[in-house]
Amino acid sequence: RFITFEGIDGSGKSTQARALAERLRAGGHEVVLTREPGGSPGAEDIRRLVLEGDPDRWSPETELLLFTAARRDHLERTIGPALDRGAVVICDRFADSTRVYQGITRGDLRATVDRLHDLMIGREPDLTVILDMAPATGLARARGRNGSEERFEDFGEALQARSRQGFLDLATEFPGRCRVVDADRAPDEVARDIARLAEAALA
Ligand code: C5P
Repeated sequence: RFITFEGIDGSGKSTQARALAERLRAGGHEVVLTREPGGSPGAEDIRRLVLEGDPDRWSPETELLLFTAARRDHLERTIGPALDRGAVVICDRFADSTRVYQGITRGDLRATVDRLHDLMIGREPDLTVILDMAPATGLARARGRNGSEERFEDFGEALQARSRQGFLDLATEFPGRCRVVDADRAPDEVARDIARLAEAALA
């Protein structure tokens, strides 16, 4: 089974992905916890190329190709083999992030995103947890972190708001696999809702 976490920066994806991984491991599942961009050695190299340096280094089109190349490698090396041996794969961001960021907020390329996805990726999660949060809260949390990922750092509140709406629209577009969870609550309350969703998806 393949479970992904999506949502704006600072919405708690990494924390909740880790919490779910621990919970499922305690329940006896083999769990592979991974993330995008990255998740395999080659994709982590591409992550550095995309996220570091001058904000104008890549055009939206080139950025989309780099994210897609990273995802393809991640799928070939990490996600695919784990799913094939029956592990649960939990991924912090996947193709929905590309649909929102390269498709809407950082580029205007949704049609191209979809064509590349069909050609090169072609896999959808069984469950996508969309962590929904007010943009100001997410931004404050994201800015409180220290990272070397400067390229996208000044992603202002208006763009966060458009990204949030982009994720909510994906939940409407893909109602079979997407579940929206209110992430503006205590982390263990959020985790409890996610655990219930995951258990239903694994049953
Ligand atoms: O989730 P994480 O913090 O690792 O993402 C790093 C940055 O890359 C974030 O600012 C996110 O908005 C951006 N990103 C993007 N397009 C993607 C995935 C992530 O612009 N497809």
